[in-house]
Amino acid sequence: MGKNCPKPQKIIGIMTIISSVTTLTTSCSTQSNTFFSKTNQPVHLSPTLQIPTTQLHKLVNSHLSSAAKVKNLTFTVPTKYQGKIVYHAQLHNNDKVIALTIDDGPWQNTTSQILDILDKNQVKATFFWVGQALQEHPDLAKREVAEGYVIGNHTWHHWYRRMDEATAKSEIERTADLIYKTTGVKTSLFRPPGGFLNNGLAAYAKSQKDTIVMWSLTSADTDPHAKPQAFVNNVLKGAKPGSIVLMHDGGGNRERTVQALPQIISGLKQQGYRFVTVPQLLEMNQ
Ligand SMILES: [Zn+2]
Repeated sequence: MGKNCPKPQKIIGIMTIISSVTTLTTSCSTQSNTFFSKTNQPVHLSPTLQIPTTQLHKLVNSHLSSAAKVKNLTFTVPTKYQGKIVYHAQLHNNDKVIALTIDDGPWQNTTSQILDILDKNQVKATFFWVGQALQEHPDLAKREVAEGYVIGNHTWHHWYRRMDEATAKSEIERTADLIYKTTGVKTSLFRPPGGFLNNGLAAYAKSQKDTIVMWSLTSADTDPHAKPQAFVNNVLKGAKPGSIVLMHDGGGNRERTVQALPQIISGLKQQGYRFVTVPQLLEMNQ
């Protein structure tokens, strides 16, 4: 995918979906019992023409899924962060907002469990996809986009090693192409695997004006020996206004992350935090 074209703000894509859904909802809601004829006389139609609410929801949802796929949904950040490395946001008023970021999926079982928990708690998060994992689980990817999560690029192979420019380009662009083909999403958010900033990947991403999204707080959920409670404690003790939190839904067995997530969310809510996506966080950091 070429990256020379200007990147519209995310809001445009979202507004397109909202307006499409509004149009659909409006057109569905005209299926009531009463229409007005050209002479302004009410024309009574059979009640069977009414669409049940459940069916309407299905219609809207299926429309949302296809809209997310075909519309030009772009995730980007304010200009001053393009081509820059970001670890957290410094908010003027110490607003208690925090961004959960979830890496290395989409992944069998754990991604859908995490989506169910986020949905139940009405929390929006930012997912960084690995191209190889995306290729395995396109349906999970479509669900994430349809449900309003923000997506970033986390390379094709998740390599840490030093690579030449052509390889770095391929790692990022091959993933970007598959993200677009699968979901219609373009993203300027990039996270280097392992947080390595000197192996060629971050340099290529910067040259494309992508934002290198690091983190200021890790759950340390890749520690093979730690219990879920340790992940919870790491996040709840380290949380600060504007933190970007690192977690994982893929790249291995993430059952312990699934177990920790409800407590992480409820604990942060008890501390007074609201959850935002990375673009929302950076928009507040202006
Ligand atoms: Zn990773």
